[in-house]
Amino acid sequence: MPIHRHADPSYDVVVVGARAAGAATAHLLARSGLRVLLVDRGRYGTDTLSTHALMRGGVLQLSRWGLLEKIIAAGTPPVRRATFRYAEAVVPVTIKPSHGVDALYAPRRTVLDPILIDAAVASGADVRFGIAVTDVDRDRHGAVTGVVGADGIRSTIAERVGAPFERVGTSAAAITYGYWSGLETDGYEWNFRPGAASGVVPTNDGQACVYASASPRRIGRGGLAPLTRIVAQSSADLAGRLAAAVPPRALRTFTGQPGHLRRSWGRGWALVGDAGYFKDPLSAHGLTDALRDAELLARGIITVADGADERDALASFQATRDALSTALFDAIDVIAGHRWTDEAIPSLLLQLNAAMADEVEALAALPPPPPPSDQRRSTRSSPEMQLIHSMSVHCARA
Ligand SMILES: Cc1cc2nc3c(=O)[nH]c(=O)nc-3n(C[C@H](O)[C@H](O)[C@H](O)COP(=O)(O)OP(=O)(O)OC[C@H]3O[C@@H](n4cnc5c(N)ncnc54)[C@H](O)[C@@H]3O)c2cc1C
Repeated sequence: MPIHRHADPSYDVVVVGARAAGAATAHLLARSGLRVLLVDRGRYGTDTLSTHALMRGGVLQLSRWGLLEKIIAAGTPPVRRATFRYAEAVVPVTIKPSHGVDALYAPRRTVLDPILIDAAVASGADVRFGIAVTDVDRDRHGAVTGVVGADGIRSTIAERVGAPFERVGTSAAAITYGYWSGLETDGYEWNFRPGAASGVVPTNDGQACVYASASPRRIGRGGLAPLTRIVAQSSADLAGRLAAAVPPRALRTFTGQPGHLRRSWGRGWALVGDAGYFKDPLSAHGLTDALRDAELLARGIITVADGADERDALASFQATRDALSTALFDAIDVIAGHRWTDEAIPSLLLQLNAAMADEVEALAALPPPPPPSDQRRSTRSSPEMQLIHSMSVHCARA
């Protein structure tokens, strides 16, 4: 039975969902002097259904926030090479140093998410776990009052505020993955053959995450048998090395969901991360975009706290998000459909690559973040601010 509970009205913003998008947003808002409550129905430090390859934009964000050193200190191995295999081609790509990033990283979510949450706490955010948000409160004009929905693909906040879908994908691939020990690999590996894709993501504790992606029918309930079949179809080379490594006891399986871009803001609410923008995991880009959009949204909210017009600030957040997302969204939707041929895949991968390069340039061009504020921003005296003022949500103890 849900408990109807009002959050402490002394907060400026409540962020719902304490993983990549929500913890990063809470960190940036609290760092700027806003009073932030971050809630999650789950538990601190737990794993989630996700592999964890970060692309350059994501690493750039962590570096800018001073958190990359913690990822490295946790023993996350640097990735300095990505190998693409498609048709009969093998294309190794060296990760060149640029924008202060000289390697990519793929921290387990049990490493990345707590680092972001700890940063939010260190910046002054209050964090509460075991709180499942079931609804948002509205003021007497019907406006939601100060909620950021970072609550993932099936966002309750998006549903309760009625955030419309602005783009919906046409494809849903399934993916099954697990962690191998002793696998010979020298970086990210991405393999694409018609009807079958697979890859390797080196991660913490000397393990390598290996995944296989195909239609939901081919993956079925997932596990070692379909993974081995799909890896063999997409790369004989990886299949050979897998056979010599120690397989996992259990694998995890995502049964697939089409991508979406939702409207990401309204009076008193905003969406960030998968809640607003989800695309197939084959993009290996959801985390990078979650960190990107946390930065873009937080910058917008901070300008509102400093007196900018809320509509302008949040509309600008969405415009930038969409401009940086749609090319990648469209390319990955085709790739996830597993309807391409050996002849078509190189140009689809080039489209992905171009979209990621544009994103890195846009992130690198952002002005440096302001230094942490040791002064509270005064927001309560600005009644016109819909996003940033006392708020409440309806919750249940999870
Ligand atoms: C199989 C798979 C593999 C992937 N691999 C990669 C990859 O290699 N690289 C990459 O960049 N991305 C990858 N992704 C995508 C990535 O996992 C997501 O983009 C990322 O997790 C989004 O972060 P988020 O913070 O928006 O949402 P989430 O990580 O989903 O976090 C949402 C949080 O909200 C909480 N929550 C939900 N509802 C409520 C509620 N009502 N009340 C309170 N709390 C709530 C949840 O408990 C959860 O902690 C993959 C995804 C999948 C499914």
